[in-house]
Amino acid sequence: MKIRYFSGALLAAVVATGPVLAEHHSKSKAYDYGDRGPELWGQLHGDYAICEKGDMQTPIDLAYANAKGNVALSVDYKTGPLTVSNKGLTVQADFAAGSSINSAGTQFNLIQIHFHTPSEHAISGKRYPLVGHFVHATEGGKLGVLGVMFEEGAANAELAKILAATPSSKSGPATVAGQMIDPNGMLPADRSIYRYMGSLTTPPCSEGVNWHVLSNPITASKAQIEQFEALMGDNSRPLRAVNNRLVVAPE
Ligand SMILES: [Zn+2]
Repeated sequence: MKIRYFSGALLAAVVATGPVLAEHHSKSKAYDYGDRGPELWGQLHGDYAICEKGDMQTPIDLAYANAKGNVALSVDYKTGPLTVSNKGLTVQADFAAGSSINSAGTQFNLIQIHFHTPSEHAISGKRYPLVGHFVHATEGGKLGVLGVMFEEGAANAELAKILAATPSSKSGPATVAGQMIDPNGMLPADRSIYRYMGSLTTPPCSEGVNWHVLSNPITASKAQIEQFEALMGDNSRPLRAVNNRLVVAPE
């Protein structure tokens, strides 16, 4: 990967001032982990201290990128059985083994996709109404997430399958007989990505997560976005400081 750094002065400014954006959303009861909003997760449990004290947390405003480079990303996703659960905090589809991404030579195997309304990452303060997080892990257990933003437009056929199979109340994973899902149908054609090291966005907020966020959104219909909002509420974590991290934007 060829990375072109911005000027030192700009980089210093970027690392010195993380994004501080006001949050006006009211969080769903489930997301509050028992009346405690995401700003207080670090005090909930000893194991969650990193939520508050960690300096490599997610999400961030990707406009704070301090380098440019095209990260080599290849996607090898396969059609498989549809398994869906309503986790209360999110809607999730689990994938059978065999799908993966390769990011700059490291293979991450696809485990599940789950959703947030609105998107957790922002770009210049803009959040999309919906994001899908494809969660992967290497054989050694390192996590890699691929984020796909959705904007309002044409309906997405794979989202329709997930929504049709999601119970309105909390449920364990259930496989839908005879229904297949193609994860490729939830990806834009352009695979330009933002790349940085971050964390899980719910407790325990573990760091060391290889974040990839596609810079181009795809579409979901207004009705689909509203269905996700009705199922999950606002389950988007407030933005965290970039701190002293390399954040690579596509060229
Ligand atoms: Zn997520």
